[in-house]
Formats: sequence, structure tokens, C-alpha cells
Amino acid sequence: MAAKSSFRRTHLGKRKLSPTTQMTAYGYNPLFSEGSVKPPVFLTSTFTFQSAEEGAEFFDEVAGRKPVDQDRGAGGLVYSRFNHPNCEIVEDRLAILDGTESALITSSGMAAISSLFLTFARPGDSIVHYSPLYGGTETLLSNYFNSWGVTPMAFFDGLADAPLTESLTKAYAKGPVKIVYLETPANPTNSMIDLAMCRQVVDKWSQSRGIASPLIVCDNTLLGPVFQKPHDFGIDLCIYSLTKYIGGHSDLIAGAITGKKALLHKLRLTRSSFGFQLDPHSSWMLTRSLETVFLRMERAAKSGVKVAEWLAGNKLLPCKLLHPHFLDDQTKNVYERQCTGPGSTFSFVVEENRQLAFKILNELQLFQLAVSLGGTESLVCHPASTTHSGVPVDIREKVGISEGMIRLSVGLEDPDDLIEDLRQAFAQARK
Ligand SMILES: *Cc1c(COP(=O)(O)O)cnc(C)c1O
Repeated sequence: MAAKSSFRRTHLGKRKLSPTTQMTAYGYNPLFSEGSVKPPVFLTSTFTFQSAEEGAEFFDEVAGRKPVDQDRGAGGLVYSRFNHPNCEIVEDRLAILDGTESALITSSGMAAISSLFLTFARPGDSIVHYSPLYGGTETLLSNYFNSWGVTPMAFFDGLADAPLTESLTKAYAKGPVKIVYLETPANPTNSMIDLAMCRQVVDKWSQSRGIASPLIVCDNTLLGPVFQKPHDFGIDLCIYSLTKYIGGHSDLIAGAITGKKALLHKLRLTRSSFGFQLDPHSSWMLTRSLETVFLRMERAAKSGVKVAEWLAGNKLLPCKLLHPHFLDDQTKNVYERQCTGPGSTFSFVVEENRQLAFKILNELQLFQLAVSLGGTESLVCHPASTTHSGVPVDIREKVGISEGMIRLSVGLEDPDDLIEDLRQAFAQARK
């Protein structure tokens, strides 16, 4: 079919198209929408079938009773809670960005994470996870899944075999380990997990017991999809809060999971049953965001380095930098093997006292005082009293989230303006 080959084009002659190119057109056929170059927002709750037979067939697909026709993406269009065109365009493009078979989007990052746990863990099972994780994920595990009989088991060092192995064995004593849940780099400390090592440790540990390996999942929100591709290191599923860099304009809430079709098929059924689908308008905005994701992330990362270098060298207030370019040797080694850039979210630590940190926050004029990250505007927050205030103090100390820590999300402003803002805030705070 000529139309199909042009809107799902992967090559030009022998040349494989770059993801950057794919973000502008892949997966949308203008001929279905009066030639409109950009996809319309399909504001509809339901779709007509061409015949009763087609209705029956599409229902078999969305209910998982019949394999999906490859040409129809996730299945024939039935009802917007299951599927809609704006969602499919985003999913096709996200799969390309992550270099994997398939993607699924959800109404938030937390809806993606909830879908994952609801699909693959049952009462009696356990989940091994790295700590610190995004606060919402830790809360979901400890306040909900734990009370439903799913045991979370944390490990705190992502660079060595032993802590993960120990945690797997401890979790296994409570019940079958179904998921190993990772997040790298960690927010707000930028500590790293060696993904290739995790794959090896999990497989070796499972083989020695004669059991199937649990799924290894990585929250790739901080560096993905541009600077880190966990699928290349043997990770089964990637999780995203699209709210952050991929949405990139702080104007929507959305999430995603990427990976092999067979796994995503199960997650899709969960999304449909629980009602975690993303609406057409937000999906459309994501299509627009994906066209600039490389430009935005690369520019923000470059500015982030400039800001971090200024902070490290400044004479007004000594700071400890938790930016990927200022890591210890062991972490740096993993960073260099696993990532192609530092992203633009990082923290710095001033004297161990909240007062000084608050003074700086209150003096900043350009950096806006807000949680979240990855938008066009630069944001600043105090993790210990906001995003990570729910983390018990002993764990906070253990992972290094101190009272003097300030987190920045560097956006698209001129980096020299941002540096001037930090300079004047430091000068005021020192008085
Ligand atoms: C924001 C965030 C989430 C949650 O995403 P929402 O879109 O807010 O539901 C999960 N993981 C990480 C790393 C995040 O930054």
C-alpha cells in the first residue's frame, strides 16, 4: 500500500532515517484527514465500524482474544478509552525514539507505573527496587502495594553486584520476585545504576535458582529518550513521565511505557480496564513536543553544564555539585558507558542548613520556585522540604538528600542570564 509505506517510512532508499526526521511525520497519514499536514485533534469518544463483522473483529483485538493486525497499530479503533489516532501517533514515535518495538501512553507517569505493578505483581509477590526512587513511586509501593500483600524490597547501591543480589534473595524469601524496578540517574542526587550489571546479576541469580528472570524496568524520565537508552542494556521496559522533558513545556501530565509488543499487550489491557488512557488533546500536544525533543534536551543540557561549572567555581558560596560531570570515578565510569549527555536536572549542596538554602531560593528572580522539571523555563526547588519530604529522615540521610540541597531544572533561557540570577541570589543570601 503506497500510503502506508509513506507514512510509516523507515528508510529512504538504503538509508535508515534518523529518529529526528521520524518525529516530524511518522505514523500519521494526511490522506485520512483531508490532506492536513498536521494531525487534527480527534475529539471523539467512539468510532464507527464499516460493518458488523469489523466491529466484532476489532473487539476481539482490544479484548486480547485475537492478535492485532500489524497495520492497525494497537488494534482497530473502537472507543477512545482503548485507543485513538492521536494516541497511536505518539506511541509509534516513542517506540522509534527508544529503539524498541512498541510504546503505550497513559494519563500520567504514575498511571504508567501503576499499570506496571497492577499487571505484573499479585498478592504474595515481591518487587525489588532501587532507592531513592521518585517519591510517588516509593509511596505507591509502601502505602498501596505493600498493604495488598506485595512486598517491596529496596537496595541502595546501583554500582556493585552484592546489594542487588542480597535484596533479590531477601525479597525471594517473602515471595516470587516479579519486578526489579530501577530509576537512573536518581532524582535529586544524580547517583547512577549500572544497567548492564543489573541485567547480569538478575539473570545469574535467577538461573542459579532455576527460575525465570523477573522483569527489569527502568524509569528513564531524567535522561530519556535522548541521552539514555536502557533497552540497549537489556532492560525489558522503560517508564516515562512525559510530563517532564518529552512534554517539555510544563503544560500537560502524561506517562508512557516502552518495550516489546508481547509485554505491552498485557499492559494495554490493564490500561483499558482501569481507564488510564491519555486524552486526544494532550496526546496531540505530545506529538508537537516530540518534534523538538532533541533540540530542547540538547540545548538545556549544554546550558546545564555551563551553570554547573559556574556553581562549582564560584567564590561567593562553596557548593558541592551533584551533576553528572562532577561525579566520583566509579559513577562517572557508568555514566560514560551508559549515557550520551548529562540532562539538565541536577542539585547542589550549600552549607548543611535550611536557612541558607531558603534564602537563596527566595532571592532567585528567573528560576521559578516550583517542583517538576524538564520544561522550557528553569525551575528550582528544595527537595528535603518538598518533593522528598515524605522520605523518612534516616533514608534521606543515607542517600544524601540534605537540608542544604537545592535542585535545579535548567530550561531554555540564555545560560548567562541564569548564571547572573544565581550570582545575585548568592550575593544577597551571603549578607
Ligand atoms: C514526575 C515523575 C514521575 C511521575 O510522573 P507524573 O507524570 O507526575 O505522574 C515518575 N518518575 C519520575 C522520575 C518523575 O520525575
